[in-house]
Amino acid sequence: MFKKILIANRGEIAVRIIRACREMGILTVAIYSEADKEALHTQLADEAVCVGSAPSKSSYLNMEAIISAAIGTKAEAIHPGFGFLSENSKFAEMCESCGLVFIGPKSSIIDKMGNKSEARKTMMNAKIPVVPGSKDKVNSIEEGKELAKTIGYPIIAKASAGGGGKGMRIIHAEDEFEMNYTSAVREAENAFSDGSMYIEKYIESPRHIEFQILADSYGNVLHLYERDCSIQRKHQKVLEESPSVAISEDLRERMGSMAVKVAKAIGYSSAGTVEFLLDKSGEFYFMEMNTRIQVEHPVTEMVTGIDLIKEMIKIASGEKLDINQEDIKLSGHAIECRINAEDPKNNFRPSPGKIQNLHIPGGNGIRVDTAMYLGYVIPPYYDSMVAKLIVKGNNREEAIQKMRSALGEFVVEGITTNIDFQYEIINNSNFIKGDISTHFIEKEFHM
Ligand code: ADP
Repeated sequence: MFKKILIANRGEIAVRIIRACREMGILTVAIYSEADKEALHTQLADEAVCVGSAPSKSSYLNMEAIISAAIGTKAEAIHPGFGFLSENSKFAEMCESCGLVFIGPKSSIIDKMGNKSEARKTMMNAKIPVVPGSKDKVNSIEEGKELAKTIGYPIIAKASAGGGGKGMRIIHAEDEFEMNYTSAVREAENAFSDGSMYIEKYIESPRHIEFQILADSYGNVLHLYERDCSIQRKHQKVLEESPSVAISEDLRERMGSMAVKVAKAIGYSSAGTVEFLLDKSGEFYFMEMNTRIQVEHPVTEMVTGIDLIKEMIKIASGEKLDINQEDIKLSGHAIECRINAEDPKNNFRPSPGKIQNLHIPGGNGIRVDTAMYLGYVIPPYYDSMVAKLIVKGNNREEAIQKMRSALGEFVVEGITTNIDFQYEIINNSNFIKGDISTHFIEKEFHM
């Protein structure tokens, strides 16, 4: 096992990883930007190295500085968390060539899944059901229009390099093709410096169902059941739960096996997530695979009792998985609410600032992953998520009751958060019924 790990991230996920390492007896090195001197992760780690100025580009994305920090502190491995460099194959490759272990899959696998149209192709070859659509990236507006005609409107144009819901446009008819397609290309070029696109059939009112995977370097692959991430705003997840009420035992079995097949098809190792769209008729389609730990991983940890960060570290150090598929049992129901420093009443504008008052809920079955503390100043440079509130009940009804109680107790003053908005979701009658799709927020809140 590693003696020392560098965590190439910040915020709650850096803290989450530091804690896992500490429990495993592994020393930790934090990296921080000039804006994060006072951040919790900087303070909690055994060592901390400043890697650059506030903007992510010069610090949390500064590969050379991060590798130097790892070498300088004699760390043996780097955990990238999520976001930042977590799905950057060049960074994984740099780690590999500098004799550092990248805690994640091999760089070649990141590459394979990182380009979403390439990933589609790989999956089609492996006989995995993908959303009907283009076989390759689309080369021109004309080609796109022709394709859309054969697929049938509505379609969705998606950026090959996409992520975070960016570079995606729904197109309902040919006369709006050019305008929407061009605007998706522009957004993709700005966000990813890559405007290449692919086209999929737009599935009406689907659910986003993803399966958590664990795979070791010896070909053993397990799934840890699903997360229902249908509650989204602008294609970004807001609330996640496990299990999904939309899935029968039989469907769970079939989707789980398909997720394992996806991971096996590419020779995956580490923790990963296979994302599917599930339509109303019960058909499901591969959408993409995320080759990193995800924000919503605690939901799975709560219902399976398996610590995914520890498993990732064990796999990266060369250990074999010591559990079988039959050992993984789903118990109870978990829900996660993402708590963001943003103002739902003002178009969800980010609301950084100083935490003037803070009360974090607790109690039986309540988990809060956060890097906030009283007096902490949330910097304006990074993602607006400041906490994850996760609850586990014996069943969905109890989990909802716990979430309602915990959200009601949560106090964050000095900044504006979406806590009240989450409270409205959890109290919505259609949410309570489990009658949800990816359009839930749009429909119920007219936004
Ligand atoms: P990203 O990588 O940017 O997160 P995804 O491919 O995971 O993008 O898609 C994000 C969300 O966009 C999905 O969860 C779903 O709500 C919506 N979406 C993507 N593709 C389709 C599709 N073909 N039909 C309907 N909705 C889609």
